[in-house]
Formats: sequence, C-alpha cells, structure tokens
Amino acid sequence: MPELPEVEALAAFLRETAADLTVARVEPVAVNALKTFDPPFSTLVGAALVTVQRHGKFLDLVFAAADGERLDLITHLARAGWLQWKAKQPRTPARPGRGPLALRVVFTDGSGFDLTEAGTQKRLAVYLVRDPAQVDGISRLGVDPLSPEFTRDVLAALLAESGRAQIKGVITDQSKIAGVGNAYSDEALWVARLSPFRPAAALTATEVDQLHAAVTGVLRDAADAARGLAAADLKAEKKLGLKVHGQTGLPCPRCADTIREVSFSDRSLQYCPTCQTDGRPLADRRLSKLLK
Ligand SMILES: [Zn+2]
Repeated sequence: MPELPEVEALAAFLRETAADLTVARVEPVAVNALKTFDPPFSTLVGAALVTVQRHGKFLDLVFAAADGERLDLITHLARAGWLQWKAKQPRTPARPGRGPLALRVVFTDGSGFDLTEAGTQKRLAVYLVRDPAQVDGISRLGVDPLSPEFTRDVLAALLAESGRAQIKGVITDQSKIAGVGNAYSDEALWVARLSPFRPAAALTATEVDQLHAAVTGVLRDAADAARGLAAADLKAEKKLGLKVHGQTGLPCPRCADTIREVSFSDRSLQYCPTCQTDGRPLADRRLSKLLK
C-alpha cells in the first residue's frame, strides 16, 4: 500500500512528466472504482494537467477543463492499487474485464497512465470533483506529518485525547495524522522503541519526543529515498528501506533479536521484542486461536 512518501513521489513524478499535457481520452474500466458521477469523467477530455498534489495518501491531479473550470481527478490507491505511467498508451480503447485496469487516461501526445489494482479485493477509489474538499476522506484528514504544523506538542495532544487507544491505531488514524499506514507506523514504533499496543495517553514526555522524532524521521528518509524515482521503481524502493515491517523471522537490524508479527484478519504488524516490548512476544490472536 502506498503511503505518504510514495504518493508524494508519485505526485512529483507526474508534475515533472505530465504537466501541461492535455487529455485525449478517459476510459473508466472498473465502474466500481468510480465514486463520483457529477461532473462526468468525460469532462476531462480536453482538460490540461496544471499540477499534482497530495492529501494524506490521496493523489490529486489538478486539471484546467476546456471551459476553464478546475477539475480534480483524485485517487486513493488502497492496498493493491498503483499508477502506471505509459510513454505510449494503446490506440484502441481498453475493454472492461476482470483485469487489474481500473481507469486509463491518454494524453494527446499518446502518453498517459493507468490506475490499476491487483487482487480480488477492489478498494481503489477514483473521484472527479471541482474541489478536493468534496471528497469525504480528504475533508476529514488530520495533520500532515511532514508539515510544520505537526509539532511535538500537536502529537502529544493527539495522544492524550486518544486515551487508552493503542498508539499504532492512533498514528495510522487518517483523521489524526494524514498519510501514515501500516508499514511506516511499524517502522516509526521500532525507531522509537515503543510497543504498538501501548495506550496512547500513557506515553511519557520522553516517549512522545521519541515518537515524534521517529514518525517525522522515518517519513522524511523514505520521501528522500523515493524522490526523483519513476513511478515504476517506487514499490521496490519502499521495500528496500523497511527495517521491521514485512521482515518477520529476520534479525532486527539493531539488536539481532528475531522480528515477530501479530496477525489480524486482513493485515499484520511486525515488531522487535527486545527493542519494543521488553523481550516479551505480543499475543497473536490468530495464533492463540489455532492453539486452543
Ligand atoms: Zn531489536
């Protein structure tokens, strides 16, 4: 799942590659992915790309329509979605089917991009609006962790008001902090040496300092590593940079203890017991159920 650093890099890549290009064709292939119908997607034809923005994990392609109005083509790539840039798009329209293609945009110079989604769980969402605030998920977003507004005291207040909620859940709650997902929250908690299950309001002042430095540091490092990469290379770069997320069974790069995981129905988190939980493995509900 692309998180803040990858979406930021995708936005920069598109600004560089596609600015000023005019839309020749829009092909909405997966109708389920389209979350808006007014204005119709056909109004993108003849529109020119002005800039590309990021809101949390949402990618926002800002167009000037043929009538001069602003049009925002916005997507949330969800877990298995991606944007594939094509120097040369096919001349013939794509046929709706069961494939990964959700939406194809072709520019007048023949280039363009595909929004695709692998797997059977279709969660990729595409919106066409006049104002990004018309997308619910965007209007509800919390503070951007790479913005100057995300201070240590802002994080302290978010944690304090979250009471007994687990810090992993708090820092991945998009209405609190916009853009942190499952992977970079695992990384930040490992850097900060905090258990993902600690109650948010119970963190000491020093631990809040550590968590703030870890969240901003992890995101900044990942954004730096992703900057300048082509869309096609971003996923591999993200995997390369991860120290604990997705590393179950491998040695912790800091202390060499074995990275463990906790599984949920649709995802899992990873952590280092020595660095984060005083050496104690966290209960894994799936595992405990199997053992009963
Ligand atoms: Zn460790």
